[in-house]
Amino acid sequence: MTSSLESSIAAAATLIDEASAITILTGAGISTDSGIPDFRGPNGLWTKNPEAEKASNIQYYMADPELRAKNWALRAEGALWANVEPNTGHRSLVRLEERGKLHTLITQNVDELHQRAGTSEGKVVEIHGTTRKVGCLECDYAADMEVALDRVRAGEPDPSCPACGGILKSKTISFGQNLVEGDLLRAETAALECDLMLAIGTSLAVSPINRVVPVAAQQGAKVVIVNGEPTGFDGLAAVVINDSISDVLPKIVG
Ligand SMILES: [Zn+2]
Repeated sequence: MTSSLESSIAAAATLIDEASAITILTGAGISTDSGIPDFRGPNGLWTKNPEAEKASNIQYYMADPELRAKNWALRAEGALWANVEPNTGHRSLVRLEERGKLHTLITQNVDELHQRAGTSEGKVVEIHGTTRKVGCLECDYAADMEVALDRVRAGEPDPSCPACGGILKSKTISFGQNLVEGDLLRAETAALECDLMLAIGTSLAVSPINRVVPVAAQQGAKVVIVNGEPTGFDGLAAVVINDSISDVLPKIVG
C-alpha cells in the first residue's frame, strides 16, 4: 500500500510540474486540520448547535428574530469557529501561485483560510460566500463580520443594517439562496481554461460546483483528486490520493 501511495504522490507531483494553468477546487476536508468541524458528524457544528443549522436556512433566518439573536450570540462568543488558523494544506497551495501555475482557486469553504494562508484575494472564488463578512439582505451594505459582532457585544441582539434598517446576515450562501452568478461564471471559465484540475478535500457531491471537474476533464485537462475518501468523479482522474491532505499537499506542490 505504501508504495502505491508513494507512486501516486510522485505521479501527482509530475502532473503539477507539467501543468501551466491549475484550477483548484477545495472543500471542507482541507480545513478539518485547522480544527473546523464538519457539519453533520458526531461532533459536527450542526449536531452540537441545531439552531445554527436552522439559521443556515434563509427562510427561517429572515422570519425569526430570536433565531437570528441566538446565531449572533454564538458568533460573538466564537462558537462558530472564529479563531482558526490556516494549516499546512492551505499554506502548501500558496506554492502553486508562487510557481506561476495557479489559474483560480475555487473553494466551497466559508472560512477565508486560503487568503489568510497567502493566496491572493483575486485568485479565490468563494462559491459559498464567507462568514468573515456581513451583508444586508435588502441593500448593498457590506462590512467585516467584526463590525457587526462588536455591535452584538455592545448589546444589540440582532443588529440591523445601518444604511436601510434591513436584516444583516453573514455573506454566506444559505440554503434557499442562489449562488452568485459572477462567481459561477468565474468557476466555469477556470474549469474551461485550466490544464490541470486539482480537487482537494471535497466529496464532489455538492452541485453545481462539482461540475467543474467533468467540465475540465472534458476539455482535456488532467484531473488529480486528493481526499479522505473516494469521490463520485474518481473515474475521471489521472491520479486519486486517499490520504491526509496536510501530509500529501506539501509533497506534490513542488
Ligand atoms: Zn441595508
